Amino acid sequence: MSKQENKENRKFSIWDLPDVPMGQLPPHLQLHRTRVVCKADAPIHTDTVLYSGAYASMGIDNSLHLDSFRSNFKVEVIRLTKDDMEFDMIGIDAAIANAFRRILISELPTMAIEKVLIANNTSLIQDEVLSHRLGLIPINADPRLFEYLSANDTPNEKNTIVFKLHVHCKPGEPRCTVYSEELKWLPNGSEFIKESEKVDTKPSTYTSFSCSQNSLQNFSSNPIGPTEDKIIIAKLGPGQEIELEAHAVKGMGKTHAKWSPVATAWYRMLPEVVLLEEVEDEIAEELKKKWPVKVFDIEDIGKGKKRATVARPRACTLCRECIRGEKNGRNVWHCAVLKIISYVITIESTGAMPPEVLFTEAVKILEDKCERVITELS
Ligand code: SF4
Repeated sequence: MSKQENKENRKFSIWDLPDVPMGQLPPHLQLHRTRVVCKADAPIHTDTVLYSGAYASMGIDNSLHLDSFRSNFKVEVIRLTKDDMEFDMIGIDAAIANAFRRILISELPTMAIEKVLIANNTSLIQDEVLSHRLGLIPINADPRLFEYLSANDTPNEKNTIVFKLHVHCKPGEPRCTVYSEELKWLPNGSEFIKESEKVDTKPSTYTSFSCSQNSLQNFSSNPIGPTEDKIIIAKLGPGQEIELEAHAVKGMGKTHAKWSPVATAWYRMLPEVVLLEEVEDEIAEELKKKWPVKVFDIEDIGKGKKRATVARPRACTLCRECIRGEKNGRNVWHCAVLKIISYVITIESTGAMPPEVLFTEAVKILEDKCERVITELS
C-alpha cells in the first residue's frame, strides 16, 4: 500500500498534521501545552509541561524566565465586597494558585476563643459543646496586632482578648436565645478571681494586663467583638443561666479550623468555551435554553437564520452536559476548553479581615517561604 493510499484509508494519521516552521509548535502540541481540554467522559491534558527541554527538538525554549513571568503576570479583580473577593490570576501555574489557597486556609493567623472559664451553666448545652461553639465565632480583631501565646507565657494585653458572657432567662419568662452580641469585650482582662490555697495572698485574675486594650490606638476607634451579632450560641429556658469568660488567642487554621480566616478559598481554571462548528437555528435555540447558567446566546445572521455564540464563558461550571450524548447525529458540537495558566480565585472571608488584606498577607507568607528556601540553599 502506498503512503498516499495509507493516508486515505485511515481516519487520522500523522501525515494529516500541517507542517510548521522550526520554532513553532503544531496546533495539537500547542493545545496540549496551554489548555486542559474538557471531554465528555473526563478532562485531558491535565499535566503541566514544566520540563525546560520538552520541545527542544522543535526549537522551542520551554524554560521559565523571570522577565517573561513579570511581563505576562496579571491580577484582575472581578468582584470585591466586604466579605468576599473573586479575581483572575493570569500567568501562573496551578501549583502557585494552590499554594495561595492552602496558605489562606491554614497559615494565616486570626484570633479565636481558645479557653473558656465557666462559672455557671445551667442550660441544656454541655460545657464542652458550648466552648466549641464559642471557639467558632469569628472575632473582629486584627491578628497582626497580637503575639502568639505559648505554654509558658502569661496571658497579657498583647496575646489575649477576654470576653464575658452573662445571660439569664428569668423564671416565668419565655425561652430566650443567646446571640454572639452578648459576648462583651473586657479590655482590662479577666475579672474572675483565681482561687488560691494561701489565705493572705493578694487576689489575682486569670490574666495580667499592664494596660487597658482600650487605650491602644487601634482598638479605641475599633472595639473588639464578634464579626456578626446574630450567631446563635445557646437557647435558655426559664430559670437557666450561663456565666463565663472566654479567652481568645492567636492561632492558625492548621492547628484548628476555628483560626482559619476564610469560610473557604478555592480556585478554578478560567473557562474558555469554543464552538467546534457552527450551531444554527433549532439546535442553537436548544443550546441556549437547555442549560441554566446561560453560557450561550443567539445572534441573528440575517435571512431568518440564527447562530449560537459563546456569550458568558466565565459562567461555565464545566458540568460537561453540553458535550454529552449525540445531537443530530453529531457526537460533539462544541467543547469547553480551559486556559491552563489563568485561574479564578475566590476568597470568602469569615469577616476577621477583609479578603483583599487576606490575599496580600498570603503573598507575604509565600514570599517568606521562598526566602527561607533560598537561605537554606545558599
Ligand atoms: S456549564 Fe454550560 S457550557 Fe459549561 S460544560 Fe456545562 S453545559 Fe457546557
